[in-house]
Amino acid sequence: MQQIQSLIRAVPDFPKPGVVFRDITPLLADAGGFARCIDALAEPWQGSGVQAVCGIESRGFIFGAALAQKLHAGFVPLRKPNKLPPPVVSVDYQLEYGVDQLQARNDALRPGERTLIVDDVLATGGTLAAARALVEQLGARLVGASVVIELAALQGRSRWPDGTPLHGLLRY
Ligand code: 5GP
Repeated sequence: MQQIQSLIRAVPDFPKPGVVFRDITPLLADAGGFARCIDALAEPWQGSGVQAVCGIESRGFIFGAALAQKLHAGFVPLRKPNKLPPPVVSVDYQLEYGVDQLQARNDALRPGERTLIVDDVLATGGTLAAARALVEQLGARLVGASVVIELAALQGRSRWPDGTPLHGLLRY
């Protein structure tokens, strides 16, 4: 885990003053580190019968697609607005300033399909909560969620209310 952590770059004052951005691109560029990261993300879900992995645009696509392959599951992109052709389902969520939206194809998941949500970073938890609402709107069965990095000080986990498993590989 230390090796994975050493491949994540802290970028002060990005994208605005006072924010420390966690840059995952050095991890992606390191063949061994990226492979170990996907192995570690998959580990808690082995044997849990995950059928679909939903990755959140855009960095969630990278980890989610690799994880889907590892778990022998399909991959479903949860996208920012106006990227997918209709018909779509949508969930609005609050940003620090304004609102954003996630969308999925309206038949992206089958009713009851065992589904895992993946993103790179859990910060305030709004994005993951919106992804969860979208999966539930589609009638799938949410098995849990995985993120590479949990920014614990921002308490995003408090917006993931019940006992559905939420795994964070690294905590800051
Ligand atoms: P939240 O909705 O939990 O506040 O923010 C999570 C979303 O913002 C994720 O989709 C993630 O990609 C992005 N994000 C927030 N902070 C960071 C960061 O420090 N590094 C990276 N790579 N993404 C971040």
